[in-house]
Amino acid sequence: MSSNKPVAPVAQVDDSADVRSGRLSDEQIADNFADMHPPLTPSEAIIDADRCYFCYAAPCTAACPTGIDIPGFIQKIRSGNLKGSARTILSENIMGGMCARVCPTEVLCEQACVRNTHEDRPVRIGLLQRYATDPVFDEATPLFERAPATGRTVAVVGGGPAGLSCAHRLALLGHSATVFEPKQKLGGLNEYGIAAYKTPDDFAAREVEYILSIGGIDVRTGSALGKDLSLGELRAQYDAVFLGIGLAGVNGLGLDSEQLEGVANAVDYIATLRQAENKALLPVGRRVVVIGGGMTAIDIAVQSKALGAEQVTIVYRRGQEGMNASRYEQEFAQVRGVTVRYWSSPRKLLTVDGRVRTVEFETTRIAPDGRLKGTGQTFVLDADVVFKAIGQKVLWERLADTAEILELQQDRIVVDEERRTSLPGLWAGGDCVHGGMDLTVSAVQDGKLAALSIDRFLRTSESPARAPRRGS
Ligand SMILES: Cc1cc2nc3c(=O)[nH]c(=O)nc-3n(C[C@H](O)[C@H](O)[C@H](O)COP(=O)(O)OP(=O)(O)OC[C@H]3O[C@@H](n4cnc5c(N)ncnc54)[C@H](O)[C@@H]3O)c2cc1C
Ligand code: SF4
Repeated sequence: MSSNKPVAPVAQVDDSADVRSGRLSDEQIADNFADMHPPLTPSEAIIDADRCYFCYAAPCTAACPTGIDIPGFIQKIRSGNLKGSARTILSENIMGGMCARVCPTEVLCEQACVRNTHEDRPVRIGLLQRYATDPVFDEATPLFERAPATGRTVAVVGGGPAGLSCAHRLALLGHSATVFEPKQKLGGLNEYGIAAYKTPDDFAAREVEYILSIGGIDVRTGSALGKDLSLGELRAQYDAVFLGIGLAGVNGLGLDSEQLEGVANAVDYIATLRQAENKALLPVGRRVVVIGGGMTAIDIAVQSKALGAEQVTIVYRRGQEGMNASRYEQEFAQVRGVTVRYWSSPRKLLTVDGRVRTVEFETTRIAPDGRLKGTGQTFVLDADVVFKAIGQKVLWERLADTAEILELQQDRIVVDEERRTSLPGLWAGGDCVHGGMDLTVSAVQDGKLAALSIDRFLRTSESPARAPRRGS
């Protein structure tokens, strides 16, 4: 997530460990990374749309973090009004195309669908959403028009889903947004993190292009808060500031010698994979051990397998129910040949010639006091590569000035229901805020809510909290 440079197991192929590229043919790799959920055909879409009951106070809409009028867009598909359907979706969630591909619908809208009770099978809302929105991105159909310019300027720090959603809504409302992003490409984890088989065909970049096509959004890549910009400067120069900086740091395992060759951050490898022009050239370990229990663990495990790793094992310290990855995702990994071992925690990384070759684990259990404890029993797994996937964090060490003046909880930014921070004129959203869902869709909602709040703030001329105007 944080850098584009190749990580150790990618860059340095070690003959003594079995880490190499070319385990599978180009065709096999192309098959393994093909679209995870191929789009619906027109007749499939109509059949699925016909299954919708168009519920009053639809539970699916209530379960959607961005509040899309789901029966409304399905009704429009049914009547052949695809453009209107896409408008209904994108007016609530400008990343409705990406969310149709990556949302864990099985625990959101589709879990809430009343068809589950009657037939044990929900309306395929995610795929219908994709059916309605794909033509808009394929044909770059303009659906929105900016309001007359207000002359107000907002700095948006971070070009991921939260920042882009905020910038788009601000632009729509007539304000000018400047997006500051350290990387060369916008999109955040949509571009550098999401599993490649969920978003093939450069969809993340096409979606960014569509978002920017509204106008009124200036993009400054190569600009990092804490390095090239300070919060003080931004607050002085812009009418309002939005922080959507995500989680650029990675949690450690708390073991000695984590810097060993062969031990890597899953998010760094995934970023390299997502940017690779030819995935067949990526070196991959024969035996891969992944430590963690969330989406990142599942994604690195499945993608390692897809690149040709023979044995991929996810090891998680708690039981199946405790995993952040949904049951659907866990099963998906198993179907793709990944082994999952629960109730085990890493104790030691064992090396040969300075490179990891084995990991020692201790089995765990819940003690009577409710805490997770080691049982004293151990086992080892051979590993050519070990991936750390135990969560990300905000890199406050690079943002010391910002951390000092903001209210934080558990190292994330405290915001209210409008995504206002503790500082006047400063909003935040997405993964960097406390209490969120850490999903693309919730980041998009945060950006939207913040933009609406910023708009109200900018239009309230007597607002005592107004940040100084540019040039004043
Ligand atoms: C491997 C992985 C797989 C995932 N898969 C899914 C999935 O399938 N479905 C799903 O819904 N969610 C998934 N997620 C979660 C989802 O990607 C995030 O919740 C979402 O991207 C959060 O958006 P964001 O804008 O807050 O942060 P990000 O997407 O991280 O974007 C933050 C942006 O801020 C920039 N930035 C960082 N520091 C600074 C700075 N100092 N100054 C300026 N800019 C900065 C970053 O470069 C980045 O572009 C996944 C996450 C990971 C790590
Ligand atoms: S809950 Fe299911 S059936 Fe009811 S409106 Fe939503 S998609 Fe249609």
